[in-house]
Amino acid sequence: METADVVIIGSGIVGSSVAYHLAQAGCTNVLVLEREAHQGKGSTGKSMGGVRAQFSTPVNIQMSKYSIDFFSKFDEVVGHPADYRAHGYLFCATNEKHLAYLNANRERQGALGVTNVEWVTPEDIVKMVPQLRVDDILGGTFCPTDGFVDPHSVMMGFMLNARERGVRLWLDTQVTGIDLECGDLPPLSKAATSRRTPKDARISGVNTSRGFISTRVVVNAAGPWAAEVAKMASAELPVEPLRRQLVPTEPFDQLPRRFPMVIDMSTGFHFRREGKGILLAWNDPTETPGFKTDFDAGFVEKILTRAASRVPVLAEGEVNPRRAWAGLYEMTPDHHAIIGPSPTVKGLYFVNGFSGHGVMHSPASGRVASDLILHGHSDLIDASQLSVQRFSQGTLLHEAAIL
Ligand SMILES: Cc1cc2nc3c(=O)[nH]c(=O)nc-3n(C[C@H](O)[C@H](O)[C@H](O)COP(=O)(O)OP(=O)(O)OC[C@H]3O[C@@H](n4cnc5c(N)ncnc54)[C@H](O)[C@@H]3O)c2cc1C
Repeated sequence: METADVVIIGSGIVGSSVAYHLAQAGCTNVLVLEREAHQGKGSTGKSMGGVRAQFSTPVNIQMSKYSIDFFSKFDEVVGHPADYRAHGYLFCATNEKHLAYLNANRERQGALGVTNVEWVTPEDIVKMVPQLRVDDILGGTFCPTDGFVDPHSVMMGFMLNARERGVRLWLDTQVTGIDLECGDLPPLSKAATSRRTPKDARISGVNTSRGFISTRVVVNAAGPWAAEVAKMASAELPVEPLRRQLVPTEPFDQLPRRFPMVIDMSTGFHFRREGKGILLAWNDPTETPGFKTDFDAGFVEKILTRAASRVPVLAEGEVNPRRAWAGLYEMTPDHHAIIGPSPTVKGLYFVNGFSGHGVMHSPASGRVASDLILHGHSDLIDASQLSVQRFSQGTLLHEAAIL
């Protein structure tokens, strides 16, 4: 029978980071299961690759601080490229409420060691992006170490390094069930398990399209499918898929070759350079949860209206809807990740629900998950804040800086 000390379900950027951090800590009898023929077919391959420390909650700021520092030395430490580009994130405020919000965030960021977030005036903003309409902009913040990575490279780097240390990756392997046992009793079917008291349930193995694997520890790194995987172990996980669409322009030379990610706080529209073109993003508030990955052609007009309003030259940008794409955010009710052990199933760990931040927080989440599995605690953050119990205990976090 196949066995592993730890089975990770999902080989996206999060599962790969968990594998890397476990291997780094000396835990190499790890098996990563991926149902697709290649890595990166889930949310990771659809991401915009943005990384930033400009958050409002301490836990997100701490996760970013560790992760951005990690990205800055990724190539050297991991031995593979992350393509980290420190081009910055520029938040542009158009009312007093935005300014107060950015001010409070900047103070919190500084107190947690992110001391390089600068106040910028409309004049500073025009210097960075001369084509921006700033008549209604009151000011903003700019953090030069925010920027972008190549999500696919980061994911591959983590996994290649982990595999060099002995971690196994099985592609084309769908997890179809998770077996539990109670005390000394033999493994149970899912239906029987749900009739037992949950507190004495523990992992005994996973069923896959390639047979049974015996293990005591399962890591749920299944991205937008995390709730389905949790259900296989009769566990509840409040993670919902939410479509997110991105629109690249054709080559566009009327904006600088290098400029930060710009966020127009009046609409939430944001954009950055991607090769010769510009990558446009906007969170459509009419979007509803579900596994929708088709690109809606009607979105092009919605986003171009916001783009041209803030950057008038973008009205001349050409867009081929066939090059636009949609992917899934993995949303939790308070827009923060869920990291930690299941309270009902011993040996089951969640690393889920990144709500749009899974790429930028992948180094920290892999490290925290590995710490919790191997030591039961992490000195990187107070991981109890991210436990799934916060939803039943009513200790939700509140992050307003969601893009
Ligand atoms: C359009 C878009 C833009 C984004 N922009 C950003 C950004 O700028 N910055 C940022 O930080 N984040 C961004 N995100 C979010 C980020 O991409 C995700 O949070 C992150 O990729 C999640 O990684 P993951 O490894 O958890 O999930 P995934 O990459 O989805 O990986 C999960 C894997 O699990 C596998 N799997 C699922 N079920 C099973 C099963 N039963 N058996 C075997 N395998 C299974 C899937 O095939 C998949 O490969 C964006 C997301 C989208 C969609």
